[in-house]
Amino acid sequence: MNIILLGPPGAGKGTQAQRLVERHGMRQLSTGDMLRAAVRAKTPVGLQAKAVMERGELVSDAIVSAIIGYELDAMGPDAGVIFDGYPRTAAQAEALDALLAERGRKLDHVVELEVDEDALVERITGRFTCASCGKGYHDKFDRPRMPDNCDKCGNSGFKRRPDDNEETVRTRMAEYRGKTEPILPIYNARGIVSRVDGMGDIDQVTAAIEKIVAP
Ligand code: AMP
Repeated sequence: MNIILLGPPGAGKGTQAQRLVERHGMRQLSTGDMLRAAVRAKTPVGLQAKAVMERGELVSDAIVSAIIGYELDAMGPDAGVIFDGYPRTAAQAEALDALLAERGRKLDHVVELEVDEDALVERITGRFTCASCGKGYHDKFDRPRMPDNCDKCGNSGFKRRPDDNEETVRTRMAEYRGKTEPILPIYNARGIVSRVDGMGDIDQVTAAIEKIVAP
């Protein structure tokens, strides 16, 4: 099964993708995570992407689609895939069609997480993750039980994304509205889009997604 999770920054795509990984053994392909890893490793792609990401703008279509192709080849034909944060433009949607077709895969579902944009800024600017295991937390909604240690792995040390500040979030929202939302009609025309209320609590959103992917 191949699924796209679509929605603005902070809609919960990464969180829900992790749930699908845990429940169904699917693979999460997050271009954002892969680009951040490239920035940390100072690869040529990372060096090129760093400033663009810090501004909240989109990295070039060619770069992200190449990364997706590479990752699809690395995982073998049978793994189910969740595309998280990709495609984000019409060109990427077209590239994804080609990448999937070349590998005998097809898109089963596009899950659109619907959220209230005003709430997203608060969600995003308050979020942080464990530096060791990546578990997500929030200043207001989901603090760790011990202030300095992760509930899941017990290690100390948390981190925040450099692009999770208000100014960059506004740019990321504008990029979503201007470039990503317009690709929805492509998938609507194929009858594969399901809309999920992304404002509920995390478990409710997971339950709604489960009804779509494993009815
Ligand atoms: P995300 O983690 O999905 O919020 O992505 C963080 C940042 O990485 C975005 O604001 C973009 O700068 C870049 N990025 C991630 N995925 C893509 C993509 N599919 N196309 C272009 N840029 C991307």
